[in-house]
Amino acid sequence: VILGTPESSCDNGILRMEARLTWEDADKPPFDLFVETDAAVDSESFLDPNAVLLACFFPAWRGGERRVRVNGPICPVLFENLKVAVAHLAFWYPALPSPCPVVESASGFVVRQAVRHRALSLMSCGVDSLATLRWNRTHIPPDHPASVKAVVCLAFQPGPSDTPPPPTGRIGAAVDVARDAGVQLVPVRTNLWWLVRDGFFFDDVWHGALLASMGWFFSSSSDRTYIPSSYLPHYPAPWGSHPLLDHFYSGAHMTIEHHGIFMSRLEKTALVAGWPTALRNLRVCQNDESGSINCGTCEKCLRTKTALAALGQLDACPAFEDGELTPEHLGTIRRYDLFASSHTARWWVELLPALLACGRNDLGDAVGDVLAYAKEKEARSR
Ligand SMILES: [Zn+2]
Repeated sequence: VILGTPESSCDNGILRMEARLTWEDADKPPFDLFVETDAAVDSESFLDPNAVLLACFFPAWRGGERRVRVNGPICPVLFENLKVAVAHLAFWYPALPSPCPVVESASGFVVRQAVRHRALSLMSCGVDSLATLRWNRTHIPPDHPASVKAVVCLAFQPGPSDTPPPPTGRIGAAVDVARDAGVQLVPVRTNLWWLVRDGFFFDDVWHGALLASMGWFFSSSSDRTYIPSSYLPHYPAPWGSHPLLDHFYSGAHMTIEHHGIFMSRLEKTALVAGWPTALRNLRVCQNDESGSINCGTCEKCLRTKTALAALGQLDACPAFEDGELTPEHLGTIRRYDLFASSHTARWWVELLPALLACGRNDLGDAVGDVLAYAKEKEARSR
């Protein structure tokens, strides 16, 4: 692929970066990608060609392209780091095309200095991102360069063009969280998801790099980006955002940190539960991509409600449409086969002893049955 020179514009307070991706080997029409925000940020940040490279490299790889040619200077540290991430992904997913594309730069390789020493974090208002922000607030002094000063709330366009705009459900929650944490909210809209249109590829391979690219887009105002970890400390299975990948999306003027994998999901939920603003604005639901509501009945809602019950905080959490939790509710997991795979059970294991320890044996027994269902599901899949 050839990545055109990124161009930025500012219209009606909306700052927008556009670049054209032209396929060379794959038989696909050019793709005009855009990333935009209405937050007050430095417009030069949108012109970092490293951001476009990172966002588009993996779709190019999947498309069988032989090269990724960038019209702009590329950071040599990112260039070398990418090879490490590629090696891990190629080992995990042998079906990916081989060899991967070669990165070329029309303007050579240039080491830049960081412009500002400050950190930003991705914010979906899920347990992981709220825990990362809370941990940062409670452990890092505000004058330290690792202290989070901005959060990026990412929304994908519902189609490849820029109309209609994505639903703004999650933004309302993020506004409240950012205000209370004293950080800038940077709502970002992009059509990048439509470059591939493959949810499995997005989840398994691409999304860590795409989230990291959001940090690079703002490299004129930050030099560190936290990607909240979505896996468990004792179970780092292959996944598109991973401790063996995300760090290797760093370069000389931008460090990417896969943050929070030292905490279990229950520990993260405890951090969130100790912050009333986060508890009010929690968005975990699998049934509502927009982040407007939590249905209370999907697997992830049930898992989060169970963790909050084990912490004695479910009644304090107004974020669920259906805030009740009974053994019958947990029985729906088996009845409707709510686990996407037997791996999902990993998140439930720690909930059983926590429920028994706080005297919720009724829910503990129900979680015991959830774990038994997961074992049966695993046996069936062999
Ligand atoms: Zn839900």
